[in-house]
Amino acid sequence: MSAAPRIDLHTHSTASDGTLSPAELVRAAAESGLDVVAITDHDTTAGWAPALEALPAGLSLVRGAELSCRWYGEEPALPLHLLAYLFDPEAPELVAELARVRAAREERGERIVALLRADGIDVSWPEILTGAGGGTVGRPHIAQALIRAGLVATTTEAFGPDWLGERYRLPKEDIDVFRAVRLVRAAGGVPVFAHPRATRRGRIAPDELIADLAAVGLAGLEADHEDHSPAERAHVRALADELGLVVTGSSDFHGTHKTVRLGAFTTDPGAYERIVAEARGVTEVASG
Ligand code: AMP
Ligand code: FE
Ligand code: FE
Ligand code: ZN
Repeated sequence: MSAAPRIDLHTHSTASDGTLSPAELVRAAAESGLDVVAITDHDTTAGWAPALEALPAGLSLVRGAELSCRWYGEEPALPLHLLAYLFDPEAPELVAELARVRAAREERGERIVALLRADGIDVSWPEILTGAGGGTVGRPHIAQALIRAGLVATTTEAFGPDWLGERYRLPKEDIDVFRAVRLVRAAGGVPVFAHPRATRRGRIAPDELIADLAAVGLAGLEADHEDHSPAERAHVRALADELGLVVTGSSDFHGTHKTVRLGAFTTDPGAYERIVAEARGVTEVASG
């Protein structure tokens, strides 16, 4: 009998704020002993084709994305991340929402840089955009500029309260989370709430919201994630049980922008199979 497959359902490439290209990402996934990897860049499917093209033999690729969402049920609105798997990358409404969010991210990045510059901090927006290499731009790219300028030593420090974590933090124009769940399902995909209990990132979604999302089509919850404490993981598992949702685990690998390694957390084969079975087959799992 062969060992259970190792499945990592949340990773980033240079198509957003990871540091490995999509081709490097799938090669690294195979080298680290994974059997299944999902590419889930923020608000884009741009990494799908190059990842597919470079897919090593024996590795399965789940094409996905991590959608920047917001819940408007409290003030100020709560930012949330929704993983979406195996959806149609040409579904018009979803494509339009992703394009809108990416454009808004650029405007927001430029405004953050303007705030920094107004305080005499010498960072350049054109240089940051170049650094993002045409991928979805985010605060990690601005963090790199702060590091290059010698203003902070690490990405973690750049996300501290004196910098991008608070003082120079601006909200993004995200997708209403209920609309996002519906659009992903309408596009044949499977929506899973990313790191839903990560209190170390800030405010979190109340359980009632998760129940309401489950009622409109949310398929699963990411429980095993580095930003969850053991108690938070247990809470997510219990909630998923109660609501009949799938439980996933994943690294949320970002290359050198974070310390976590590929496969640091994984998803049970049974949960993975449920996700694949719920997908409507527009985008298939690709096998290398
Ligand atoms: P943005 O999407 O522009 O709001 O930036 C959020 C992204 O920054 C997340 O997807 C993570 O990749 C990264 N990030 C957030 N907090 C931290 C942190 N404390 N250290 C390193 N990276 C972080
Ligand atoms: Fe990220
Ligand atoms: Fe996330
Ligand atoms: Zn992520």
